[in-house]
Amino acid sequence: MAKENLPFFFEEFVAGGNVSTKYRLSKIDFSKQSPIQKIDVFSTPDLGKVLVMDGMVQLNERWEFTYHEMIAHVPLFSHSNPESVLVIGGGDGGTVREILKHRSVKRVDLVEIDPDVIKTCKEYFPSVASKIMDPSVSIYNEDGKNFVAKKKNEYDVIIVDSTDPYKGAGNSLFTEEFYSSCREALKDDGVISVQAENPVYDSKEMERCFREIKKAFPIVKPYISFVPMYPSGFWVFVYASKNVDPSFKGDESRIKALDGTLIYYNRKIHDAAFVLPSFLERLMSLI
Ligand code: SAM
Repeated sequence: MAKENLPFFFEEFVAGGNVSTKYRLSKIDFSKQSPIQKIDVFSTPDLGKVLVMDGMVQLNERWEFTYHEMIAHVPLFSHSNPESVLVIGGGDGGTVREILKHRSVKRVDLVEIDPDVIKTCKEYFPSVASKIMDPSVSIYNEDGKNFVAKKKNEYDVIIVDSTDPYKGAGNSLFTEEFYSSCREALKDDGVISVQAENPVYDSKEMERCFREIKKAFPIVKPYISFVPMYPSGFWVFVYASKNVDPSFKGDESRIKALDGTLIYYNRKIHDAAFVLPSFLERLMSLI
């Protein structure tokens, strides 16, 4: 279809409505107000399908690998032998797909508060949700904050793949109380990664995440990735642990086992991701 004949636009606003990204749509595939949030699926000419929740883009098919590989493989390769993994949020399945590339992983608990997200992604994003029904994955539809508070000394890796903290369910996942529960749920050599927004349009939320997680863990290191599907394209994650530094563990054979399946993450990126530009390093050092 010629561009001028594509009739719809979706506009994602950030910076209190002062900045936006406008997407030309070829189709509105799905739209539903679930009890938790508004879920939309749009088809676009250039980015494949786009998943939107409460007006904010969660992923597009073309670039989702940048985010999912970096939220998953940095903590997984920082652990010497990850077997049990907890994902909080992440109902699209992209993080689970990356986790299950690691042969050591025997069990994944996925805690997604909104069952409609899983249902929608299974239907409209099969390449992202491809492993969500794997027998090693147990799905729990409840608030991740309550779920993790019941767990002690159980997980090697926790990944917090949440929505933005501005409003709704994601807010409770950016608190000291939640991160302290994660610390208790991890084994002594466990590690955690969380998505921490961006320093361009969401600096306050990013700083809040870093400040709160620092109250709960002795080792806390921000790392960055290019994630073009999110506002500014510059994304921050936070790695934390009770005892384990974020270096790559094991030998090259561990990453060789994933040969041909990785599009963004590699051995050099693992270390480089922890090198911050000066403005961000300065900002984080003040927290
Ligand atoms: N990383 C993506 C981003 O930053 O845009 C988010 C991907 S994933 C779709 C986020 C998921 O977290 C959503 O499906 C949402 O329902 C879920 N979620 C939000 N708050 C939650 C909570 N308190 N407990 C469990 N899941 C939650």
